Amino acid sequence: MDDRDSLTLPRIGAHRVRESWQERFADTPDVLKSSEYQQTIVPVLGLEIGGDDFVTMAGPCSVETEHQLLATAHHVRRGGARILRGGAFKPRSSPYAFQGHGLEGLKMLAKARQETGLAIVTEVMSEDDVPLVAEYADILQIGSRSMENFTLLEKAARSGRPILLKRGMMATVADLLRSAQVVLDNGNPNVILCERGIRTFDNAMRNTFDVAAIALLKLISHLPVIADPSHACGHRELVPALARIGVAAGADGLLVEVHPNPEKAWSDGEQSLDFAEFDEMMSMLEPYIALRGMVLGARPMEAVG
Ligand code: PEP
Ligand code: MN
Repeated sequence: MDDRDSLTLPRIGAHRVRESWQERFADTPDVLKSSEYQQTIVPVLGLEIGGDDFVTMAGPCSVETEHQLLATAHHVRRGGARILRGGAFKPRSSPYAFQGHGLEGLKMLAKARQETGLAIVTEVMSEDDVPLVAEYADILQIGSRSMENFTLLEKAARSGRPILLKRGMMATVADLLRSAQVVLDNGNPNVILCERGIRTFDNAMRNTFDVAAIALLKLISHLPVIADPSHACGHRELVPALARIGVAAGADGLLVEVHPNPEKAWSDGEQSLDFAEFDEMMSMLEPYIALRGMVLGARPMEAVG
């Protein structure tokens, strides 16, 4: 028996990936489902990402102040999130914008974990920072701008921490799977894929939310898939609808930006939910999460948030 067998989750519609998909994604065989291996479950502080639980990761775009972070962490915890997000190292479009607090930000995240029990996901931008970020984070986020930084991927993979791999804004599904394959090839099976919107000709929103990619990834890959409705559209009033669509497309969880006072946020305020908006989004998601449970296991599932 292969070690992986113990992680296999039986699913309705469990299947071998059709040959045409296997051919299309022939250079990433290890990320594809097989008849023996249907689903990777990534363990994070007692949570099982990719398992029956729907996992919400929420928090500010950037770690700004201790008060901002702790207030957000306590609020999203009460609202059902199980993982706190927040950038200490920020990849910004402008070189003059706030670049993050670095180590001080990581320390604030660790304090928030200690106070709330939430696991921490935070971005690592440079291979030099991998040991430091891995010391503080439960999940290493590889940002869109870094998805094809293969030396970073290798170093992050070797840290042994689970990897949240965000799709590059100009990356195809095949490109995303290739980067996931690199992490697997470096001895780390715990990869979580994240659809966060891609660039298309349309410029009404920040990006175009590729929900078909979520459905496709769930069909062909055994890796958990997370939807990021915040970066996908860039406008807070659209985030709850995109979150519901992400769940309906089969996502295993959400990554969503929340801030105590979005108007004053140091980054991505326009797309960040305030506390009341987060609560409303979560309550509107409940029936969709329950439905997801019925589709996956033919029984109602307990929503973890
Ligand atoms: C983020 O999660 O704040 C972020 C910078 O995301 P992305 O890499 O998808 O732009
Ligand atoms: Mn952001």
